[in-house]
Amino acid sequence: MNKKQKSLLIRIIIATIFFVPLYLISEEIVKVDIPQVALIVLFLIPYLLVGYDILRKAFLGIKNGQVFDENFLMTVATIGAIVLGEYGEGVAVMLLYQVGELFQSYAVGKSRRNISELMDIRPDYANIEEDGSLKQVDPDEVEVGTIIVIQPGEKIPLDGIIVEGSSALNTSALTGESKPREVEPDDEVLSGSINMTGVLKVRTTTEFDESTASKILDLVENAASRKSKSENFISKFAKFYTPIVCYCALALAILPPIFCMVTGVGMAGYESNGALWGDWILRACTFLVISCPCAVVISIPLSFFAGLGGASNQGILIKGSNYLETLSEVKIIAFDKTGTITKGNFAVTDVHHSPIDAKKLQEYAALAECHSSHPISKSLQTAYGKRIDQNRVTDVEEISGHGVIAKVDGIPVAVGNEKLMTRIGVEYRPCHHVGTIIHVAVDGAYSGHIVISDELKENSREAMKQLKEAGVRKTVMLTGDAKSVAEKVASEVGLTDYRAELLPQDKVSCVEDLLKECTGNDRLAFVGDGINDAPVLSRADIGIAMGALGSDAAIEAADVVLMDDDPLKISKAIKISRKCLGIVKQNIIFAIGIKIACLILAAFGIANMWIAIIADVGVMILAVLNAIRCLFVKNL
Ligand code: ADP
Ligand code: MG
Repeated sequence: MNKKQKSLLIRIIIATIFFVPLYLISEEIVKVDIPQVALIVLFLIPYLLVGYDILRKAFLGIKNGQVFDENFLMTVATIGAIVLGEYGEGVAVMLLYQVGELFQSYAVGKSRRNISELMDIRPDYANIEEDGSLKQVDPDEVEVGTIIVIQPGEKIPLDGIIVEGSSALNTSALTGESKPREVEPDDEVLSGSINMTGVLKVRTTTEFDESTASKILDLVENAASRKSKSENFISKFAKFYTPIVCYCALALAILPPIFCMVTGVGMAGYESNGALWGDWILRACTFLVISCPCAVVISIPLSFFAGLGGASNQGILIKGSNYLETLSEVKIIAFDKTGTITKGNFAVTDVHHSPIDAKKLQEYAALAECHSSHPISKSLQTAYGKRIDQNRVTDVEEISGHGVIAKVDGIPVAVGNEKLMTRIGVEYRPCHHVGTIIHVAVDGAYSGHIVISDELKENSREAMKQLKEAGVRKTVMLTGDAKSVAEKVASEVGLTDYRAELLPQDKVSCVEDLLKECTGNDRLAFVGDGINDAPVLSRADIGIAMGALGSDAAIEAADVVLMDDDPLKISKAIKISRKCLGIVKQNIIFAIGIKIACLILAAFGIANMWIAIIADVGVMILAVLNAIRCLFVKNL
């Protein structure tokens, strides 16, 4: 509890201690002949103690021309009750309303804290070695390239490469994956993971603001500001609703008594005109208390907030509540192949060469590729296995969807698919192997090809199955790779459709065609690994980036970022979004339903102010508790 909440709690307690006995003996006091004013003053003590800030806010609202809000409703209703001689009710309403406010601010604060605890990745310090001993410094002050020391149990403060030591890392706060990750020298480590077993020396590769931990926290903190349709609706709704309710209450206070007096109907029950007016004004006050919209207004943003938090705890970063809404309506999903459905670790299965020898062919390929970040290029470099001297490589040009052209030792080398060979006018020899064929041309002459093949991710098959179960009716793979490879992958994982040999711009037009198939509220998602998929990611209704840890382009372009490579997280994200929206709907229906019932009862004089305030605070507490369920999505 923070200071403000504590002081409100103390005010509530003192006011209650004062109010309850006063209320119980007030009947007796009335009999003893004390002046009415004295009684009012006694009741005003707890009333002002607990409600002075509400009165103040209502007054400020009127002064600033923003009259109609909850504070205004409560002020008018309670003052009305007190003026009509219902002192007890007036004070009780204010007291209970504040109990509700306290609970609500506590719950919101708690879930915020919960989320940042779940996302406990903000590092507090970094250790640097100085004169043989360790010194703790602010991670903000560490320059790129500094060697930092991370002891077992400590959080990794900055991204970097291990120079010494091996250990197991707990990356669960980043990825939601609970299995520890083994690391050794030359491995990359990401800030926010926790070093579990060994001492590590790491050379940092980013500044603090650019580190993974900072970027993720930024993302999560900003997510709540992108509002969903329901949230926007609610704030608009509140704007119209409160004034309407106030005018209705005014009508309820004035019209029926006038009607009674004019027609004489229903006058029998009242001793005087004053009693008639008093009764209807009190009903109008009750009506105001009931109509306070706080349950709906607070629970909807809280549900979304909790949903975003629960998802990030599972390694799914959703950039805003609006995307949570879109996700729940996804019916068609297009996938990239490499890095999304397959691992992107290509193994060389064959080298067909002439006239140069196999070693030389692979050397040319690896060197030409040395600046590319495409999975194919990484794999060719790994397969080559030797250290690559980047000084031998000049004039690099990467042509997306084709391959690369570069000069190696001054000789032009082209490495890529058939399209690339056609483009540079080199006649290539087709290969009958199933696999991704990487042709190599050296100095304008065809020199052979390398056959590489990729592995499926373990969960790809299961992921497609779960998506189908979640109601996704079409799963399409869009790839730049050869048709034979695409066909094999598509049938192995159980996709409904595939398109092969696409250039990046063809992927965009494929997505546009698929968008035309979306009818009604259906939405299309594109899932890619981020490398050269940015245009498609932003063209789809919702872009999901895979395994984006470290890849800036994907984090920028995508709306949803899956922190680990796991394709199962796609269906999980959809399920989380549906659960969250389900809870939002439940709350809207529940809160509005109870309100309407109470309003009707109040209009007929059946519900009094006690019932009104208990219903209001009760509904709010239940709605908030329900909203918090969005945080718990682990076992969906
Ligand atoms: P994917 O849909 O598999 O992600 P890309 O658009 O990234 O496809 O690439 C399509 C094809 O272009 C690859 O299968 C490969 O033949 C060729 N290609 C792209 N980049 C490179 C590269 N750096 N080196 C060699 N070939 C490449
Ligand atoms: Mg790709």
